[in-house]
Amino acid sequence: MSALQTTWPPGTECVARYNFSGTSDQDLPLCKGDVLTIIGVTKDPNWYKAKNTVGREGTIPANYVQKREGVKSCAKLSLMPWFHGKITRDQAERLLYPHETGLFLVRESTNFPGDYTLCVSCDGKVEHYRIIYHNCKLTIDDEEYFENLMQLVEHYTKDADGLCTRLIKPKLMEGTVAAQDEFSRSGWALNRKELKLLQSIGKGEFGDVMVGDYRGTKVAVKCIKHDATAQAFVAEASVMTQMRHNNLVQLLGVIVEEKGSLYIVTEYMAKGSLVDYLRSRGRTVIGGDCLLKFSMDVCEAMEYLEANNFVHRDLAARNVLVSEDNIAKVSDFGLTKEASSTQDTAKLPVKWTAPEALREKKFSTKSDVWSYGILLWEIYSFGRVPYPRIPLKDVVPRVEKGYKMDSPDGCPPIVYDIMKQCWTLDVAVRPSFKELRESLQNIWTNELYL
Ligand code: AMP
Repeated sequence: MSALQTTWPPGTECVARYNFSGTSDQDLPLCKGDVLTIIGVTKDPNWYKAKNTVGREGTIPANYVQKREGVKSCAKLSLMPWFHGKITRDQAERLLYPHETGLFLVRESTNFPGDYTLCVSCDGKVEHYRIIYHNCKLTIDDEEYFENLMQLVEHYTKDADGLCTRLIKPKLMEGTVAAQDEFSRSGWALNRKELKLLQSIGKGEFGDVMVGDYRGTKVAVKCIKHDATAQAFVAEASVMTQMRHNNLVQLLGVIVEEKGSLYIVTEYMAKGSLVDYLRSRGRTVIGGDCLLKFSMDVCEAMEYLEANNFVHRDLAARNVLVSEDNIAKVSDFGLTKEASSTQDTAKLPVKWTAPEALREKKFSTKSDVWSYGILLWEIYSFGRVPYPRIPLKDVVPRVEKGYKMDSPDGCPPIVYDIMKQCWTLDVAVRPSFKELRESLQNIWTNELYL
């Protein structure tokens, strides 16, 4: 049994692949999809001791569970791995060789720019069907119309509906893997049938955030319907599978629908975004201990990302959420990438972004530290928009010359001092999150915020 070639250490997370009712009192019954944590081995190498999410412990058969791993594929995760972009008819034919009825790919049409071509291998030759893009819809036969290529492929996978064959096997573009397969393989794919979407709780830039119920647990669900956007969020979700920290919003799983919708299911954060929380409660309700606690929560998450060489790139109070028990957690890994120095600067939140990142695209943990300073300012000003009364176009030139925001009213000088350190223009001198966390810890322990 392959699962037993290496013994899983305590703390390993697994997902049940099958139902298991147990044969004795010591066994932990399993329902397909249950998430379990290994707590130890047993005398029998085919069995582990494990704990489920409601804290029940017992023994489980190793071959009934699958280890849950971070999705770390070298290849690009794609919702449309059969889409080969601009290739010629000849190249398509070569890719679909040796012939296998039902092997297919989609390419951009060379003869009709803006249209696509579906190429299908059938009875020893390749058929090329023109997909016409008309009135924001796609069609092959002017009878069936589709919103996107995924819906079209899904339709002809179920039924040939006039084509020479139904679509059976995608010819994958080199260097890509099917996102769905990869999420399933690594234990992060959830079952759509077990997810109830209840009501909308927020509008993200790209889709609705809904509150939902997944197997009895309240969850937040980011629903992304548009195929190109969904593709971008596949990357966000795969980053989230690799990270685990009490101050990062935890991914519970992902649902990739064949029609192209993507659902990212995370823990539900009852008190919403930190910026709204601060604005709505204000200084009469939120005390200094609470402000410092939020600051430390975020700093701890960032120290973890720093240690794992991840750069967030969009750290701001709007991207921090507050749980029922007042724990602040960093969310929105949309821009998070393994530390690298390239990034499209056009869409950056200027007031939060470090000068060297705006100027030279130098994103690093240190540019996150700059943003963290702005976030501290937001916390201590109860959610004000940074650089008040300065026109946006003047912010960067002034900051570049060394301008720093004043201390928010009532902010302890020792905390303002930390903000100013975060806004050190010289990246090498700017502190790390580890150092910041130590400073904040010291303020907390010695009650220097009072
Ligand atoms: P986003 O698209 O991530 O910026 O989310 C938009 C809004 O949806 C946020 O400002 C929150 O109010 C809400 N939201 C997002 N994620 C969650 C969550 N995990 N729990 C509760 N509310 C959330």
